[in-house]
Amino acid sequence: MTATSDVQTPNTGTILNPATGEVAGQVQWTDPVQIPAIADGLRSAQREWEQRGAKGRAKTLARFAVWLGDHRDEIEDLLIAETGKSKTDAVQEVPLLIMILSYVIKTMDKALAPERRPAPMAMLAIKKIAVHYRPRPVVGIIAPWNYPVANAMMDAIGALAAGCAVLLKPSERTPLTAELLCRGWRESGGPEVLALAQGAREVSEAVIDNVDYVQFTGSSATGIKVMERAARRLTPVSLELGGKDPMIVLEDADVDLAAHAAVWGAMFNAGQTCVSVERVYVLEPVYDRFVEAVLRDVKELQVGAGEGKHFGALINDDQLAITERHVRDALAAGARALTGGKRTEGPGSFYPPTVLVDVDHSMACMTEETFGPTLPIMKVATVEEAIRLANASTYGLSASVFSGDTARARDVALQLECGAVNINDVITNLMCTTAPMGGWKTSGIGARFGGADGIRKFCRQETVVTPRTNVGAGGNYYHNSLKALARMNRMLTKSALSRPRRTAK
Ligand code: NAD
Repeated sequence: MTATSDVQTPNTGTILNPATGEVAGQVQWTDPVQIPAIADGLRSAQREWEQRGAKGRAKTLARFAVWLGDHRDEIEDLLIAETGKSKTDAVQEVPLLIMILSYVIKTMDKALAPERRPAPMAMLAIKKIAVHYRPRPVVGIIAPWNYPVANAMMDAIGALAAGCAVLLKPSERTPLTAELLCRGWRESGGPEVLALAQGAREVSEAVIDNVDYVQFTGSSATGIKVMERAARRLTPVSLELGGKDPMIVLEDADVDLAAHAAVWGAMFNAGQTCVSVERVYVLEPVYDRFVEAVLRDVKELQVGAGEGKHFGALINDDQLAITERHVRDALAAGARALTGGKRTEGPGSFYPPTVLVDVDHSMACMTEETFGPTLPIMKVATVEEAIRLANASTYGLSASVFSGDTARARDVALQLECGAVNINDVITNLMCTTAPMGGWKTSGIGARFGGADGIRKFCRQETVVTPRTNVGAGGNYYHNSLKALARMNRMLTKSALSRPRRTAK
């Protein structure tokens, strides 16, 4: 088995289960020439969707949340068939999506309400200034394969809430779950404001060329291409990209807690999580205890797809090859694998949990995104060294710091170059939908979530200036005498230098 999807005719493909090689389902690929017409259809339907207002749209989103809850088993079975995930990993996605939906439903009306702005100078107190959030008509969402429910839909929810139509391009490796979710939208009474574009690069490019905003989640290399393509039409982008998240364990940390978090954070979803723990720096006094505790946890892990296993298969042989290369190169350069170290024999693209020690930054396993079930651990002498090494990366997605003193951990957190830091925990910031989730450096531009901003990012701002009274409006129009204009200019200057008045309600 070399691939999880395979084009059979120009229009159809078979999706294979990476754990078993069995057929997960068939997909109808979209011809890129159809994309302009699909986008036009969405554009027409979007007007009515916008006019429903936030409260009207919230009702449809609420019905979709109920549908997701009612169809959870069906979604999870398909997820497992399409990705080779363990049941333990697969069951996380639908609840996360429902949680995001319920937060958005509760907050969207307030987030999208026009904002009153104060007069910047006394003279403008005769105006009411308001900023309105108007949807970008069609949002293109290009998604990866690692979380086919969450990554495809969590941004779609914000965009739909904002009043946009959505053209969703899921990964060509996981198109089936997206089909099911779109069926769910229709069965929830959702209007024709959510459409699918199925395919790979050419289809993505056609999507970028025909939408008003691009929300991309995927690798940093592809993110750069997406931004270049979008720049041709000055289409704004939000990019959620790769990561090489560091964990720092200080000498006063709860070592067992840090080890539990490191093992789960590195192995969850077979390590195929953008915010997975990809490298650990441990202060010398607790290094041996930490490694011992990690090994205790790793020895308990059951690898396999479906029920009763901790994590499942890697998505395909390409992903397996990256993991194999990182481990092989590290071992050749002097690292030791305390567990695992080579791919699992037999069918399916499985790789065992692999704990690496005696690693350093000359090795790809410490600098490149692995996206596999590896845990490289490095001993450091000082906190400063840990911070320097954590920041010695082209990535800056998220990080974690473990210490018995949360103030000290926060001090370390605020020296790290990344979008989020979890103290004495890992990955949890992903559930904090009130705060931005985004990356620095090559980990991205913009952020998903982030309270009202997570919905407003899909909007254009439109300022509307309304007169409180007609007196003074247009005082400097040309039909006035030049003397009157000069008087007006004097008043403007004086007004600009005086304190602005508070906006009356
Ligand atoms: P990828 O970049 O290969 O593909 C992502 C999407 O881009 C797919 O839908 C693919 O069809 C499309 N695509 C491929 N080439 C394209 C091109 N030239 N122009 C436009 N679109 C193109 O990523 P992947 O392998 O599907 O996903 C894994 C990556 O995603 C990892 O790097 C991971 O860290 C990242 N990721 C990031 C986040 C985050 O929130 N920061 C979340 C999940 C995954």
